[in-house]
Order: sequence, then structure tokens, then C-alpha cells
Amino acid sequence: MIKELIKDEVILSQVCTPATADDAQVADDLVETLTSMEGAACLAANQIGSATCIIAYLDDDDQPHVMYNPRLLQALGAFKAVEGCLSLEAESKVTRYDRVKIAYDELIDGELVARKKDFTGWTAQIIQHGIDHCKGKLV
Ligand SMILES: [Zn+2]
Repeated sequence: MIKELIKDEVILSQVCTPATADDAQVADDLVETLTSMEGAACLAANQIGSATCIIAYLDDDDQPHVMYNPRLLQALGAFKAVEGCLSLEAESKVTRYDRVKIAYDELIDGELVARKKDFTGWTAQIIQHGIDHCKGKLV
């Protein structure tokens, strides 16, 4: 179901709880909401009203992907970026990394399976933005 975006900074500042396999509906709603929005690249579950650690992002081919409990394992190539957020009016300056290794869980046949993957460039940046949302951190 396409959800309305949360813009309340008090709600968005809460640290999200770990996601489980029972949160599949949240992940589905996240993908549906993300792909319904023009120009959106990444969305975290708390932005659609569920304070669980799930993010969805679009890859370079505009294909949606879901990560349960994403964590930054390694980060290289720090740079300063100016980022906007779908939930905020203003843009902010943040430090991002060009090359990252992310640990996350993927839902396969009703169970969460641990994964690790390397990302670079724009995709790396939007995933870092999403991970910040899971921590209750706004740019
Ligand atoms: Zn955001």
C-alpha cells in the first residue's frame, strides 16, 4: 500500500527497532511508496510510519531493493555532500563515503538471511542516507 510520508521530526528522530521476518508487509509498503514517488531514490520505514530498520532504494536501473537492518561495515573516500530529504524542507551538508561495505538482511522464503555487499557512488550515498534514518538521524 502506498503510504503518506511522515514529516514529523520527533517521530523521525527515534532510533528504529531491529526488523524481523514479520515486517515483510512494511517492506512491501516501502517499495510501493518509493516507486510511486517521482524523483525518490531511497526511503526508510520510519518515513512511512513504521519505526523498524528497513530501507528501500532504487539502483542505477531504477530497480527497487530492500535491506533489513542495514549497517555500515566499511567506508572509504569521505566527501562532503549536500543532501535533501523527502521528509525535510531544507538541504543539509553531510559527510558521506564513496565506497562502502554494507551488512544487511534479506528476506528469503520467509526468513532473514545475512548478506554483505559493496556499493559505490550514488547508490552508496543513498544507502548511507537510509541507514541514518534507521538511527533516527536526519541530514
Ligand atoms: Zn531522508
